[in-house]
Amino acid sequence: MEMGRRIGITATVPVEVLLAAGYQPLDLNNLFINDPDPERLLGIAERDGFPQNCCSWIKGIYAVCMERGIDTVLCVTSGDCSNTLMLMEVLKLKGLETVPFAFPEEPDPGRMRQCLESLAQRLGTGLASAEGMRTRLKNSRRLAHRLDELTWRQGRVSGWENHLWLVSSSDFNGDFQAYEQGLAQVVAQAERRSPYPDDMLRLAYIGVPAVFARDLYPFVERYGARVVFNETQRQFAMPRPGKSLAEQYSHYTYPYPLIHRIADIRRELRRRRVDGVIHYVQAFCHRGIADIVFRHAIDLPMLTVEGNDEFTLSQHLRTRLEAFLDLLRRSPRPQGAAAPKSR
Ligand code: SF4
Repeated sequence: MEMGRRIGITATVPVEVLLAAGYQPLDLNNLFINDPDPERLLGIAERDGFPQNCCSWIKGIYAVCMERGIDTVLCVTSGDCSNTLMLMEVLKLKGLETVPFAFPEEPDPGRMRQCLESLAQRLGTGLASAEGMRTRLKNSRRLAHRLDELTWRQGRVSGWENHLWLVSSSDFNGDFQAYEQGLAQVVAQAERRSPYPDDMLRLAYIGVPAVFARDLYPFVERYGARVVFNETQRQFAMPRPGKSLAEQYSHYTYPYPLIHRIADIRRELRRRRVDGVIHYVQAFCHRGIADIVFRHAIDLPMLTVEGNDEFTLSQHLRTRLEAFLDLLRRSPRPQGAAAPKSR
């Protein structure tokens, strides 16, 4: 399939509308974090005036646009990040075309439908074509959920692989057909793997994706724990597709009030027999304040870790993670979980 005109996206958005309009969506967050040298990108943004105390993801998104010559960006103005409003102003100043998209304040399919219709109209397509794209993406989404099941139910997929494939479903790595083929191979191969030992600690990861994700997942595995629930990454993969795009994006919990995320998290923590929760917060991000609410609502040991502009785990974070895993190992496990092996 021929690639359409590139459009950068600042967050997970109704990608079906963009594809129906003939665009090639590129998640700017993924381009930033998968860059061989993300520090260099932060330097580009800071040299152009972004303050040091601005979230690294925002700076990375900006620098990726500048460096790769992306000329059109869909900016999520409600339901993601308040910084995006100012980022959009800077992108406009630099001559880029910006397309705003606002999720409704509450997950209401009727209002979501209106948002989808106006986005489709702005991009020169219609909702019927976008629903057609939803059908074409069905198999990719089905495979992503199969991979997730292979992670938590069967223990055949690592937390890192789970993170990578689910987080990439925001833009299907810019090529949904290649994504589908690649994921089909991984799933087929994982079905034949031996499972992880069932005495490993079972962790949940909640919050925005970590800047040091590449280091975090293998680190906890070396200490006898694995992530069996990646909260936001799973949401990016649309775990409850419903009967229409409007329903699908109303079931997507991330843009809406925390009560919806918490209901999803609590259900999955029980279902996946999680022993402890890692809550990642990004330095200078308003979402960090949600930690207060999560601590109140989640009845499991929780470790809050903050990342800023270091793309590997600091010694300080390693020590805190080790101490947390030791604590979990000494704690009684939730009902139904395998007994932990003492180390
Ligand atoms: S981590 Fe927070 S501040 Fe940074 S882009 Fe995401 S929502 Fe915005």
